[in-house]
Amino acid sequence: MKLGVSACLIGKMCRYDGGHAKDRFVLDVLNNYFEMVAYCPEDKLFGSPRETIHLETKNDKTIAITSQTHKDITQELKAVSKTYTNHMDNENLCGFILKSKSPSCGLERVKVYEENSKFSQKKGIGIFAKQIQKRFPYLPIEEEGRLNDDWIRENFFMQVFAYEDLHIFLENSPSQKTLVQFHTQYKYLIYSKSTSDYKALGNIVANREKKPFCMVIKNYKEGFLKAICKKSTIKKTYNVLQHIAGYFKKEITKEEKTHLHEALKEFKKELIPLIVVIKLIEIYTIRFKIDYLKKQKFLNPYPKALALRSSIKANKGI
Ligand code: SF4
Repeated sequence: MKLGVSACLIGKMCRYDGGHAKDRFVLDVLNNYFEMVAYCPEDKLFGSPRETIHLETKNDKTIAITSQTHKDITQELKAVSKTYTNHMDNENLCGFILKSKSPSCGLERVKVYEENSKFSQKKGIGIFAKQIQKRFPYLPIEEEGRLNDDWIRENFFMQVFAYEDLHIFLENSPSQKTLVQFHTQYKYLIYSKSTSDYKALGNIVANREKKPFCMVIKNYKEGFLKAICKKSTIKKTYNVLQHIAGYFKKEITKEEKTHLHEALKEFKKELIPLIVVIKLIEIYTIRFKIDYLKKQKFLNPYPKALALRSSIKANKGI
């Protein structure tokens, strides 16, 4: 799997001062799971070290400008960003991690200065980041800084692996039968993001209007990618866990049932992390041979070693 990344995050000495912005999570953890495809629009244009760049408002437009010589370099940055997104088209990336705060790579809250002023507001988006969003509206994208938040990190990687899974599915000559299988295994993962999206996707799969299958696939792809962009919450995840617990309610003892529901409530109160409840569910799934649950992506959305559900903070109650 390939992940796009701002080159300075993986240690390339491409920053304005000739340094890097190495990110330990990207380098030490993600390097084990992804092939990194690195891009640095500023280094490509001006080399490194170089003059610093900032965003500025001019005639109601946001431009990129060199900070000392005041040269408008917006068009050059846009052109190199376009070259890079053309390249990304052939790379089959499953996500992108951008360097925060940068006038090229920052995804949000980048400083935008008023013309010829030291006054700035954190309201901009980097030129390269904007180009990526425009060209790949559903590509999972995050900044390295935001990935320090366990909830954002968990949701981002759930999205990355589902994004990759969908594209592999689409490349393998999907049929009505395999579409139903794909949709079914994503039931609870999509539920944890939006039950209405799952129902809407179910209607697409059911195809009561008898649309051509290529249309069904096109609509399903778009609906699925929109659904996995959404973030799960404690409340939605708790509802999913209750649904899943329903599969064992007639099989387990009263004492086991009480124990399982206590665990669910403790998760809801943020006393135990999600992985504890998942492990309990796995035990019952294996014991009662519930194949439907074994296949659910919600229970295994990404490599276990990433351990993203081991933190209480990986879920939020909003
Ligand atoms: S933030 Fe983007 S443009 Fe700046 S050094 Fe890193 S990769 Fe290059």
